[in-house]
Amino acid sequence: MCDNLISNIGLEVHAELSTDTKIFCSCKNEFGASPNTNVCPICLGLHGALPTLNEKTLQYAIKMGLALNCSINSRSEMARKNYFYPDLPKGYQISQAEKPICENGYLEFLSEGKVKRVNIERIHIEEDAGKLIHSEGKEQSTYIDYNRCGVPLIEIVTRPDIESPRQAKDFLETIKSILSYLEICDCKMQEGSIRCDVNVSVHKDGEPLGTRVEMKNVNSFSGVFSAIEFEQHRQFEILKAGGTISQETRRWNDAQGRSEVLRTKENANDYRYFPEPDIPPILLNYDYLNSITIDKSALPNLKAINYYLNLGLSQTDAVFIASDNELKQFFDLCNGIKQDYSNTTAKWIMTDILKHLNKNRLALSQTELTPEYLIELISLIEEGTVSSTGARKIFEAIIANDSLSPHELAEKLGLIQISDNSFLENLADDVIEKNEKSVTDYKNGKDNALGFLIGQCMKKSKGRANPALISNILISKLNK
Ligand SMILES: [Zn+2]
Repeated sequence: MCDNLISNIGLEVHAELSTDTKIFCSCKNEFGASPNTNVCPICLGLHGALPTLNEKTLQYAIKMGLALNCSINSRSEMARKNYFYPDLPKGYQISQAEKPICENGYLEFLSEGKVKRVNIERIHIEEDAGKLIHSEGKEQSTYIDYNRCGVPLIEIVTRPDIESPRQAKDFLETIKSILSYLEICDCKMQEGSIRCDVNVSVHKDGEPLGTRVEMKNVNSFSGVFSAIEFEQHRQFEILKAGGTISQETRRWNDAQGRSEVLRTKENANDYRYFPEPDIPPILLNYDYLNSITIDKSALPNLKAINYYLNLGLSQTDAVFIASDNELKQFFDLCNGIKQDYSNTTAKWIMTDILKHLNKNRLALSQTELTPEYLIELISLIEEGTVSSTGARKIFEAIIANDSLSPHELAEKLGLIQISDNSFLENLADDVIEKNEKSVTDYKNGKDNALGFLIGQCMKKSKGRANPALISNILISKLNK
């Protein structure tokens, strides 16, 4: 934030729902099919074709509504949003206007080290439009693929409660993790499964909200971050110079890192919404609503908050683990065995385990590593039975599908550290006796001489002396 200027950011997130068929017809809902093969008179908007609402769309939207603490309306209505564009053959989009399926919710998530709450104005269902494909080269033609026409979408509209680009990005990552957890969207950003419009306004502290500028079709979360940063700065500069912000819609150009005017208030679209005559109002009775449930306790945002506030994980670790169903379950099981180790468990997951899984393109369930084994391994380090280097060797053996337990492996691989005091005392005496020069160096203040002596002890014990203990013994003997 610069000076006393405050930003208010609102997001409109479009998510494609992963239903088998489209929202109003039985055409396949799939990405990447040959152009104009998944089409029929209904999704092409031919005269006389009548749409029928796909019930799955409704169920998925309600699930998202429950996850975002919305009230679910027992009566909602589809509406026609009229505009002309070649990717929309009907000349109108079937959406929801005044009576959306879900309203008045909120989302809590971790951002900037705190629990941030963003209010959700509404979630509604609507159909996607087709896709224009512009050919490159001399020809300069534009092709239209109607396969995407009628793909079901939910649009999640927030209140302007977001204050920074970072919060906007964290909000979107959270939405993505929830969509993925609920298994209602494939969340493939590169295929446009989640798209976003951004509203930014800036005002002086203590004054009413500023004029809202909208940015359309920002297609990546990093794009959202940059677009907001750019827009905040643009508006700050105008206000600082004494100017006023004009209400307009801008287009974010990710390649150039800037936004440009798309249309101003004077030529803003007037969509002339009216109730969709071909689809009756959606009436949901109590039993039906009760039949749609989600496990709220396992929602990634709530899990992450719990890991962060109650288990002391870092925000990054908490969010990452909570957003991955398999890692989350594994971590919870580890915690059930030994909660004292939650931080160490998280570190193992975030470093060695993930490194191994990513390198070998494996899921955790495809390895021999169980929560019991990981906790046993951590105990071996905590109790000083093996060194952290030794533990890594044991981990590698488990991952290489050795069926022995960590303790058995420690023995088999000769990794049990020697913590026996009299053994270590003798070892230290022997090394001190045979390295007079280093002892003198140490006494003359050369600190690295100690490292050399520890190294000699480790060498003589074939790496099995407990390094912390041998170091203490050496220091006390040398200081005598
Ligand atoms: Zn169709």
